[in-house]
Amino acid sequence: MRALTIAAHGGPEHLTVSEDLPKPELRNPTDVLVRIHAGALNRLDLFVLGGLPHTKIVPPWIVGSDGAGVVEQVGDAVTDVNPGDHVILNPGMSCGVCEYCASGDEPLCLSFGILGEHVPGTLCEYLVVPSRNVRAIPATVPFTTAAAFPLTTLTAWRMVRSKAQVRAGDEVLIWGIGGGVALQGLKICKAIGARVWVTSGSDDKLARAEALGADVTLNHARVDVAREIRGRTGKRGVDVVIDSVGHATWTRSLGSLGKRGRLVTCGGTSGPMVETDVRKLFWNQWTIMGSTMGSQAEFDAITGELRAGRLFPEIDSTFDLEHGREAYERLSSGQQFGKVVVQVQPDR
Ligand SMILES: [Zn+2]
Repeated sequence: MRALTIAAHGGPEHLTVSEDLPKPELRNPTDVLVRIHAGALNRLDLFVLGGLPHTKIVPPWIVGSDGAGVVEQVGDAVTDVNPGDHVILNPGMSCGVCEYCASGDEPLCLSFGILGEHVPGTLCEYLVVPSRNVRAIPATVPFTTAAAFPLTTLTAWRMVRSKAQVRAGDEVLIWGIGGGVALQGLKICKAIGARVWVTSGSDDKLARAEALGADVTLNHARVDVAREIRGRTGKRGVDVVIDSVGHATWTRSLGSLGKRGRLVTCGGTSGPMVETDVRKLFWNQWTIMGSTMGSQAEFDAITGELRAGRLFPEIDSTFDLEHGREAYERLSSGQQFGKVVVQVQPDR
């Protein structure tokens, strides 16, 4: 089978299309074999390409975390999907039996892994995963839309709904609109009835976010976001901040946060080390929460949204597998608004 692979870490020049990889086979009675039609890129894919500590790849390593396709074969113990079903993939691999899995908090699984990072990824023609990692979706959803959906929607859903517990009327700040998690976070917050502030260094992205329902847009290259928010809210600040930037935004995130505010972080794309004034933390009774990926229940919830035709992701661009390298270059350019999709089968 064909797949987008790397043999060593570095830049996009390391990506190649391998032609003759063996088609994977079912290993367990709970496995399903999925013919992948499309995959999509996430920031994580750039980190995997560049090399992550504690993560070792075996060349030729198949990249990609997001994917959608058609079930081709199921193990004897699989009852929830059938051959021919269109499915989305949950990129999070969990054991299902440890203390955290047993309590329904799979992202804390003691052996948690992510497709493309800890196990071979999705940008290939065939993939075998446990059936707990797939959910059936209507055949009317285009594969490109379906592939662009899981990782960012799951991440944003857990941050907004489960962690910050955003309610109607809450003021929410989302950094870096244009990224997949930020955009899905905006959509989830608007569906709840929150008032959403978004930032970007691009006026074009801010205009597009406004068209998607953002209430206030701030160009963080031109204005001091925290000062602007305090000024426009009569010093009150926002209730919730969704931050995946880390070092570069942390101080301004806290500076934007009102009393009883909740900050949820799912990443540190600008750097991992941040500084928090503990006096402000206790005085304002803030809650700072970490979040990553999502649970089985959250995967069910977002699948329900997709089935109902809601929260469809914004798609920036679509590349064929042969042009996978260009897809990575598009993502690393930072110019994208929405998901960069890689089409594995030429249908749609
Ligand atoms: Zn587990």
